[in-house]
Amino acid sequence: MKRELMMGLSLLLSASMMSGCAGPRKTGHENETVKSSESTSTKKDSNDQKDSTDQSDTQDQKKVTEKKATQKTNSSQKKNETKNTTDKKKTTKKATTSKTTQTNNSSTKAASQGKTICIDAGHQRYANTGLEAIGPGSSTKKMKVTGGTQGSFTKVPESVVNLATAKKLKQILISRGYKVVMVRESQDVNISNIQRAQIANKSGSDLCIRIHCDGSGVSSVHGYFILTPSHNNKYLSSSIVDQSLKLTKCLLPAIQKTTGANNRGISYRDDLTGTNWSKIPTVLVEMGEMSNKQEDEALVTSAYQEKMAQGMANGIDDYFKS
Ligand SMILES: [Zn+2]
Repeated sequence: MKRELMMGLSLLLSASMMSGCAGPRKTGHENETVKSSESTSTKKDSNDQKDSTDQSDTQDQKKVTEKKATQKTNSSQKKNETKNTTDKKKTTKKATTSKTTQTNNSSTKAASQGKTICIDAGHQRYANTGLEAIGPGSSTKKMKVTGGTQGSFTKVPESVVNLATAKKLKQILISRGYKVVMVRESQDVNISNIQRAQIANKSGSDLCIRIHCDGSGVSSVHGYFILTPSHNNKYLSSSIVDQSLKLTKCLLPAIQKTTGANNRGISYRDDLTGTNWSKIPTVLVEMGEMSNKQEDEALVTSAYQEKMAQGMANGIDDYFKS
C-alpha cells in the first residue's frame, strides 16, 4: 500500500482491545448502513491518502504514483531480480523446515482438511492505470492496480516483498495440508484488482488473504495491521463480512506471536476493489511500514518474511479450528 497518513483514524483497535481469535461481532446494521457506506467511502477518498493497490484517490495522485512506481521499479529491477533468485533458493529450504513442523502438529492438519486458500500478493512490477469500479454496480472507480510503495531505506518495491512472502506462505500452507491458489507468482503480470478477486472467486477457495506492505511516510510509525470490510459494506454479504472479521481476529495475534511486531489492529475498509468484488472471506494484511527504517530492513529479509508467513499460516489454522 501507499504512503498514508490515515492510520490514526482508521486503525481502530489496538492489540489489547482485540478479542483474539473469537467469532465475529455482529452489528446488525447491514440494511440501514448500505447507503452510508458510499458516503463513507467518498469521505475517506477525499480525506485520506489511501492504499495505492486499489485505493489511489485522485487521477493526479494516481498518475504521480504510477510514474514514481515505474521509475522506482526500473531503478531497482536488477536488485529485485537478484533478490528473487535468492528468495527462491531460500523458499525451497524453508519448505523443508515447514514440513517438519507440520509432522508434529496433527491438529493443524485437521484444520486444513479439504481447505483451499487463495493468496494474492499485492501489486505487480508495473502499475495499470486503467480504471475499474470499486465494487459491483459502483460508479466510483480506481486504478486497476498500482505499483505499491517501496522501502524508504532499502528501495525494494512492496510488490517484491509481497510476492516473496506469499510464496513462503504457500509453501507452509501446502506443508500443512492446505490447497493453495496463487493469484500471481511473478512480478511480470498484469492482473487488475477485480481480476484478482475473480481468480479467488472461481478458484473454489475458502478464503483469500491479500498480502501488502504499507508506507505511511512517517518514519516513526511501525507495525502491521489488517484491512477488513465493515458491516457498512454494500457489496458483501453479512456472512462474508463476519467471516472476514473472524479471520482478521485470528491473524492479528498469530502474527504478533511469530514476529513480535507492533499489532496495530483492524482498519475497516469498504473501498477496496479487491475485497468488494470478492465472494469469499477476504482480508488484506499490511505486514509493516516500509517508511520505518527497522521495519523496512526487516521486511526485505527472507527470515522476517518467513516469520510473517508462519504467523499468517497459524492464524489461518486458528480460523478453521475456531
Ligand atoms: Zn499495497
